[in-house]
Amino acid sequence: MDFELTSEQKLIKKTARSFAEEVIRPKAKEYDENCTYPYDVIEEAKNLDLIAPGIPTEYGGGGLDFLTAMLVIEEMFWGDPGIGQSLTARGFGLDIILRYGTEEQKQKYIPPVAKGDWCCGSAITEPEAGSDVASMKTRAERDGDDFVINGSKMFITNGTVADFIIVFTRTDTNPPERHGGITAFIVETDREGFTAEAMHNKMGIRASDLAALTFENMRVPAENIVGQEGMAFYHLMTFFASGRTAVAAQALGLAQGAFDEAFKYAQERQQFGRPIVDFQAVQFKLADMATEIEAARGLVYRAASEITKGGNPAREASMAKLFASRVGREVANEALQIHGGYGFIKEYHVERFYRDAKIMELYEGTSEIQRIIIARSLLGKI
Ligand SMILES: Cc1cc2nc3c(=O)[nH]c(=O)nc-3n(C[C@H](O)[C@H](O)[C@H](O)COP(=O)(O)OP(=O)(O)OC[C@H]3O[C@@H](n4cnc5c(N)ncnc54)[C@H](O)[C@@H]3O)c2cc1C
Repeated sequence: MDFELTSEQKLIKKTARSFAEEVIRPKAKEYDENCTYPYDVIEEAKNLDLIAPGIPTEYGGGGLDFLTAMLVIEEMFWGDPGIGQSLTARGFGLDIILRYGTEEQKQKYIPPVAKGDWCCGSAITEPEAGSDVASMKTRAERDGDDFVINGSKMFITNGTVADFIIVFTRTDTNPPERHGGITAFIVETDREGFTAEAMHNKMGIRASDLAALTFENMRVPAENIVGQEGMAFYHLMTFFASGRTAVAAQALGLAQGAFDEAFKYAQERQQFGRPIVDFQAVQFKLADMATEIEAARGLVYRAASEITKGGNPAREASMAKLFASRVGREVANEALQIHGGYGFIKEYHVERFYRDAKIMELYEGTSEIQRIIIARSLLGKI
């Protein structure tokens, strides 16, 4: 389905697919097995606008519009979700600098990420504060021109490889509103008092980095605050739609990757003297998978198009994430089923897609949280 893609968008999608096919996929099994962070792939992707796609040209990026950046994410995840995450999420957290940062912060932190030299992250989740972001406890207290940060963060993508991380902290312990009093800081990861401990042995996206962070009397200058002090949760709310649409695009790429493997296998595998694709039971699976993928694509591209036009479509983004992440998991499951016992063996790509699919129902708000948002929107409460 073309969904009114321009010829330029189609070309970028095609280029991204070639990179995914020729560079990413051949390394996927090994990097998953060994939890290898793909520095070599990042090196090859430099200058192709596949790393942290969507950074504006004035800060050294390729200037892709949001929908086109989603096409790149889709194709990187088609290649391999673990490596895809490492490439496309190297700019995770930049949004808040782009929208609310000072010009000085933009000039200092964005261009090196756009070039592929630096990596960043976004640290919101804590051991005791997951879906309930407002219950975060990591504290930043003013001391002269600095703030002193104490606390911990959990499950932080790029935690051990990032050069800087946007850390969300509590600067007011008794704000008038529950979501108030949260402030975001740019934290360079070589600051004294900062530690990142790698969380190895993940179920999926194993070629990406995940860490638990600790801040012990870590000083950071007040000039590193991004946006308005105490307003970071409200700043965050303005990108929930783009973050969720990006995860939906990840799931879409994964689903297409798993489907393509199953479609190929069904034509090659012979049983009862003929290829298994001749059996209607297998054809029906493929028909259902292809239909679900197209439906997911429609939701993802629709939300992405809205964002490209300057909108912040909370409901459509949550619908896209809720639906596409389920499709990713179900399509990966059916793709494995079509592979029979071979699907259970690491030699084939489908078992990896099956493991990788689960995360998309968890991060950037679980499926339950997406349903809450959709329902609230239906009820006119957001
Ligand atoms: C691989 C990976 C990468 C991640 N990357 C990042 C990152 O870079 N930065 C970051 O800040 N975080 C990151 N996260 C954290 C992720 O966003 C959280 O795991 C997620 O938001 C859920 O929080 P939790 O794990 O604490 O689960 P909980 O919030 O404890 O939820 C547990 C269960 O309860 C359900 N639940 C919770 N509240 C409600 C409710 N009100 N109604 C109904 N059900 C509810 C949830 O849906 C879930 O099923 C990452 C996580 C993983 C695993």
